[in-house]
Amino acid sequence: MIPRSLFTDEHIIFRESVRSFLEREFVPHHERWNEQGIVDRSAWLAAGREGLHCMSIRSEHGGHGVDKLFSVVLIEELVRLGLSGPGFYIHSEIVAPYIEKYGTLDQQKRWLPRMVTGEAIGAIAMTEPGGGSDLKSMRTRARPDGDDFILSGQKTYISNGQLADVIVVAAKTDPDAGSRGVTLFLVDGKAPGVRRGRNLKKLGFHAQDTSELFFDDVRLSKSCVLGEVGRGFYALMDQLPWERIVIAVRAAAMCEAALEWTVAYTRDRKAFGAPLLDKQFIRFRLAELKAETLLARVFVDRCLELSLRDQLSSEVAAVAKLQTTELQSRVLDQCVQFHGGAGYMWEYPICRAFADTRYMRIAGGSNEIMRDLIARTL
Ligand SMILES: Cc1cc2nc3c(=O)[nH]c(=O)nc-3n(C[C@H](O)[C@H](O)[C@H](O)COP(=O)(O)OP(=O)(O)OC[C@H]3O[C@@H](n4cnc5c(N)ncnc54)[C@H](O)[C@@H]3O)c2cc1C
Repeated sequence: MIPRSLFTDEHIIFRESVRSFLEREFVPHHERWNEQGIVDRSAWLAAGREGLHCMSIRSEHGGHGVDKLFSVVLIEELVRLGLSGPGFYIHSEIVAPYIEKYGTLDQQKRWLPRMVTGEAIGAIAMTEPGGGSDLKSMRTRARPDGDDFILSGQKTYISNGQLADVIVVAAKTDPDAGSRGVTLFLVDGKAPGVRRGRNLKKLGFHAQDTSELFFDDVRLSKSCVLGEVGRGFYALMDQLPWERIVIAVRAAAMCEAALEWTVAYTRDRKAFGAPLLDKQFIRFRLAELKAETLLARVFVDRCLELSLRDQLSSEVAAVAKLQTTELQSRVLDQCVQFHGGAGYMWEYPICRAFADTRYMRIAGGSNEIMRDLIARTL
């Protein structure tokens, strides 16, 4: 196999300590979290004590100021252990970076140190019942009222929506200005008028709370604007490549894990007097998927290198998201098949992974939108 050249000894040692922390503190609880539809807050605090939140946030904001590869290690280990519940990547890789990049000093001081400890949990609310792909058509409004804004509208499918203490909300401040009319707000989850709807029942990701959110005339002072009025759409577009690479990192790690589980299962299980893995069709199919996974891994690592140097284009991020999540679907479908009936049983990690990962071709910009982004560069 091709050795990964991205990681230093520090990352490698960190990977070992993260894995043992997750095995000890999270694995024993994950099925209960799946059943209750939400991860315990105490798990967020435990991860905070372990220094696992917002690792690349600078130390003056309470973070650890380390490179993003530490986050990559954490994300990969969560995937390998089938820990789909903790919505850490949204909190640490999406919400905290928005606050660090676009927030005022007051906003940074108010939220980032508590996000690092896990006392404050972050969510981002873009999608609405009327549509998620076409963000410019959003209907949530933030109407100027003297020095304040009045936020009204509804969002849906919001990860960490039940737990969130701080929500980045995208709203129209000027409905006639198209993309220039969208503004981001930092909304306190306890502000009067913020209402949580149902914790939605999903195909997979059962342990991660995914919610409707309602904003009933929430009064927001100007100090809640994140970045500049009218520049929200551009901030979203600026941050999406990293979000897409994170999805690609997860997908590549998932393909590797699924293949490992399936090779072990088919080596162990016998049919017609020999291990399943001895059957040529199964061997060849797994070999093909392994080869494709290796290509995906090398491509994602190259994207990470570019991203660390701030050279990753949105086109390449879209390619990574599209290709790795399409591959992930093929790998998981085939791996479920090679597990036979066991592949359909919840107690097997391959079954849970199959359900958990289906949404990744939909979220973070659907794969149809990825194709459109890439097609624009033809
Ligand atoms: C588990 C989960 C967690 C999520 N977490 C969050 C979150 O934290 N915050 C958040 O804001 N959102 C979140 N989402 C929402 C997600 O980002 C949206 O579901 C996604 O952007 C698609 O939007 P939509 O569901 O409205 O589908 P639609 O936009 O209605 O699209 C429906 C279908 O039409 C296709 N389509 C749309 N436009 C085009 C086009 N121009 N050409 C071709 N095909 C097109 C889409 O690809 C899709 O296949 C989450 C979703 C899920 C499932």
